[in-house]
Amino acid sequence: MVKIYVDPGHGGSDPGAVANGIQEKNVVLAIGTSIRDILQLEYENAEVRMSRTGDTFPSLSQRTNDANAWGADFFLSIHVNAGGGTGYEDYIYTTLSDSSATGVMRARIHEEVMKLNGMSDRGRKKANFHVLRETAMPAVLTENGFIDNSADAAKMKSNSWIQDVARGHVNGLERALGLRKKSGSGSTFLIRVKVASLYYYDAPDWNARAGTVSQGEVFTVVETLTVNGSTMYRLKSGNYITANPQYVEII
Ligand SMILES: [Zn+2]
Repeated sequence: MVKIYVDPGHGGSDPGAVANGIQEKNVVLAIGTSIRDILQLEYENAEVRMSRTGDTFPSLSQRTNDANAWGADFFLSIHVNAGGGTGYEDYIYTTLSDSSATGVMRARIHEEVMKLNGMSDRGRKKANFHVLRETAMPAVLTENGFIDNSADAAKMKSNSWIQDVARGHVNGLERALGLRKKSGSGSTFLIRVKVASLYYYDAPDWNARAGTVSQGEVFTVVETLTVNGSTMYRLKSGNYITANPQYVEII
């Protein structure tokens, strides 16, 4: 198994960058949990651990210590940028070359994210960040647009953009780490609420969702079946909802 540590930045009392009515901590948690879900559903040799799965704030040392203790093969930190600019960039540790193992892995991720994120390319960069310096395994930090740029922020408010960015990261990880798709993984897919006008970045309360689809939420379908002539989907929670074409779109 390839052990992948996914680190959504900030969280809890640390919102990260804030602008245009959204907070970095929520955007990056949505991207990070989507990356985890895709890896777990579609790949046979990917094992995922996250620094946080809710609105909590592990310290930077807690994150790197946790990844090191777990024996991660790769550390992926997810952020969004601020400070006047637009577009995507990613980082490896200062002393690493682009031709190093980590540099080559980063190049794969960079290429695949850029194919799907609809953003301008600010390039491949280096920095002396804690999570890049204190990790005992290859580590990459991605900055997915500028929250204080209105066009980038509009993308961050879109569930489909969140999914595209997560998919880009996963496609890059697949190439960088030699991940293998499960056979028959085409039977798993995501559904998106078509009438969405609101977006919820926090994890849904699965137990409260039986029989309903809330606007703007993304569910992970693990099984499709027919009950009394109606198509139903088993969600990650094990709850069942009736698929209503007016409200549910297969993506
Ligand atoms: Zn950040």
